[in-house]
Amino acid sequence: MSIPSGRLLPAPERALPSGTDSDVRQGLVERTEEMKFGAIQGRSSLIEGGHCLDVNAVSGGEFSDQPMDALNRWPSFREWATKQNPLGGSTFDEDELTCPVPAPSQIFAIGLNYRDHATESSMEVPERPMVFTKFASSLSGPRDDIPLVPGSCDWEVELVAVLGRTIRNVDEDEAIQAIAGLTIGQDISERDLQLDGANPQFNLGKSHKGFAPLGPYIVSLDEFSNPWDLEISCTRNGETVQEARTSLLLNGVPKLISYLSRTCELRAGDLVFTGTPSGVGLGRRPPEYLKAGDVLVSRISGIGHMKNLCI
Ligand code: ZN
Repeated sequence: MSIPSGRLLPAPERALPSGTDSDVRQGLVERTEEMKFGAIQGRSSLIEGGHCLDVNAVSGGEFSDQPMDALNRWPSFREWATKQNPLGGSTFDEDELTCPVPAPSQIFAIGLNYRDHATESSMEVPERPMVFTKFASSLSGPRDDIPLVPGSCDWEVELVAVLGRTIRNVDEDEAIQAIAGLTIGQDISERDLQLDGANPQFNLGKSHKGFAPLGPYIVSLDEFSNPWDLEISCTRNGETVQEARTSLLLNGVPKLISYLSRTCELRAGDLVFTGTPSGVGLGRRPPEYLKAGDVLVSRISGIGHMKNLCI
């Protein structure tokens, strides 16, 4: 969804939100940040600089109000979106943001994909990407509460890739072409069940209700100067517990998508949680886990942040 360069049109010297609506619509106001796709109160929205456009209304019904509709038709949606200027839209409250990918057909997640996290988990770096799933019913929004369950609930901030077309058996270049954009995920994990017994239960231990906050926005690759080297961090009650760069991923996003596509068909809207860096509660000495009242802020540069309260 990048705006063509040359988008800084002969414009007056002002920052938003000054300038009339008409100026904004005519592109006479300097853009302040990149355009993002998200959901506001469940409705598909284009967002920029604190302003938003309702996709269904602005497209005259060409695209529905459902975020999955935009993702299922991502190439044509994106072409349409690049012609829009959200700065001409209304303002919104960040608490109104909801999950930007509410109903993917599949969620893939990767374990032990940062060396330091494998070390803190006392596990070997796997030879091949270690793949599990979070069931889609665990998804929630970037401001939603995280309902804790009995056991040892832990945090894992992750870069998440969102697919924008259906692929199978693709190489890394084709994998990149299939990405709609990047977003942030929390792979909340109940460790007792996840690691229980000789045959661990990753899928179940990570799929309780609200265990997959996602958002706040999907940002397409061309909006980043380098989409593969982003700052990623998580704070718990204001204390930075995780801090890394996505360039440290052992298996990068294109490689992961290509690898997964050798086995599975990946579909528009599918999610790939790419793994968490070190600093999770399990890795602390002694281990520390989430408790009611904790606030997690999960941040990736160029995308934004999520803020989730544990209850
Ligand atoms: Zn994870």
